[in-house]
Parts: sequence; C-alpha cells; structure tokens
Amino acid sequence: MIRIDIDRNDLEQQIETHKPGWLTDAQTKTDELEADTTLKVTSIWSPIKQVFTDLQFSKCVFCEKEIEDQPIEQDVEHFRPKNNVKRWKVPNWMENTEGVHVSQPNSGSEDGYRLLAYKFLNYAAACKTCNSTRKRDYFPIAGTTRKNNSKNPATMKSEKAYLIYPISDLDDDPEDLIEFFGLSPQAKKKSGFGRKRALVTIEMFQLDDDDERAYLFKRRAMLIYLLFTALEKVNNGNTQQQAEGQAGVDFLTSSKCEHTNCLRCFKKLYDTDFPKAEIVSQEAFKLWTTGSP
Ligand SMILES: [Zn+2]
Repeated sequence: MIRIDIDRNDLEQQIETHKPGWLTDAQTKTDELEADTTLKVTSIWSPIKQVFTDLQFSKCVFCEKEIEDQPIEQDVEHFRPKNNVKRWKVPNWMENTEGVHVSQPNSGSEDGYRLLAYKFLNYAAACKTCNSTRKRDYFPIAGTTRKNNSKNPATMKSEKAYLIYPISDLDDDPEDLIEFFGLSPQAKKKSGFGRKRALVTIEMFQLDDDDERAYLFKRRAMLIYLLFTALEKVNNGNTQQQAEGQAGVDFLTSSKCEHTNCLRCFKKLYDTDFPKAEIVSQEAFKLWTTGSP
C-alpha cells in the first residue's frame, strides 16, 4: 500500500473535468439524504470510476495488484461503508498480544456513513477480492464514538480508524506504517496506534497470507527478481546496461508499477544489506518460477 499523492483540490478538478456537473449532483444528493433520513442511497459513482483508476495507475488501492483496465474488474470502494457497518472480529492473537480492541457493535451491524456516500474523498478503486471478499461492510475503529452523521472525511480523526485511507494527505502515509521484509508486509512501528493500524490493515486484506493471496506473493516475487536484476545491471554492467538497469529501477520503484511499497523496501535492503537482498532475490526467483517457497 502506498499513498496516492494528489492535492485534494486537484482531484476535485479532475472529477469536474471528467464528468462536468457530478460534484453538484453529489452535493444535491447529500443534502437530500440529510433532509430525509428514510431516503436510500442510490449509485451515482460509476461515471467517475475512471478518475480513480487512472490516479491509481490501475492498481488496487489496498493490495497494489494491477487490475485490468475494464470497469467490470474494479469497484468504487466506499472507504467508510455507506449503508451498514458490520462487526469485524479481531483475531485472538491480535487482541491478546497486540492489544487491538475495536469499538463496534458486538454483534450484527450499526448505521453506516450515508452522508459520505457521495463524497469523493471516501472513494478509491479496489480489486474485487479486497473490496467484495475482504473489506465488505467492515470499518473497525478504536474511538468510542462512530461519527456516522459526518459529511466531511477530513474531520473524523477522533474515530481512530484502523484502516488507512491512502488518497491525498488526508490520512497517515501507508509507507510510514507498513514495510516489507522480502515478500511479507509487516508493521513498521514497534508500538502505538500506528502499529495497530498496520496490523489490522494487513489482516483485513490478507496481505501477508501466501495461501489465500498466493497471486500477490507470486507477483511480488517476480518483480523483486526483476528489480534485483536491474540493480545488478546498474552496479556491474557496461554503460548501456547501466542505463537499462536504471530505467528498470526507476519504473519498478515508481507508483506506476505494481507492489511499489514491497519493491521500494527491497531496494533499501539491496542498498544496505546486499547479502540479505541476494538471498531474498533467490527465494523470490524460486517462488516465481516453481510456485513454492
Ligand atoms: Zn486488492
């Protein structure tokens, strides 16, 4: 997971350019929902899906998998669920050893954030696995009061949301909270709420589950091997190889490539601990080519 670096005003402008009038419609619809609490949320977000797909270089905002650039393959994810918030069961190990507690209904569900249904800073493009299978209607918070009548995602910090919203500078930078050791995402901080946010995010999307999300691991493995090869060209190649290698390194560690956080961490490892990076690249090659670690 990485931050999608864009100024909030620029994002607003991109939406207006892509679908003139959408923002006005969204405001009208929000006003109507606020005036009539029985009114149902209706979908108007599909016409601006492409803005998020382009902004995210066709990658899922949560798992950094590249998603086919077809509308059917991607969901507009409502970061804070618009209808209901369901109970998310904290795994026992996380509760017992990490002290992660979730303030939420103990069973069933409670009202979602209907006034955020048409707020673009509550949107992101996500893959079907992350959105429909994993996140669903969950939104665990540590704060005691769910602000489900709020209309402004920028003023909801007191909820202490566990999940990280990566678009713009609205929330923490995911790379400050999650780092990779080889193929495996881990909490970067040793303690504190930032550590808990990383743990819940990794768990929610199974980002460290090489069984359930084997495809993510295979792609990370292939790309780590490619990055290792590119770095070796930069360091040991002739002039032409160095230029090719550098172009490869630049692309693979940019936001445009899949699994950017993983690859940036691997580059850091290569720069600081070459023997370990070499071992990781050999393991990655094996996983990529044989499918087993
Ligand atoms: Zn995903």
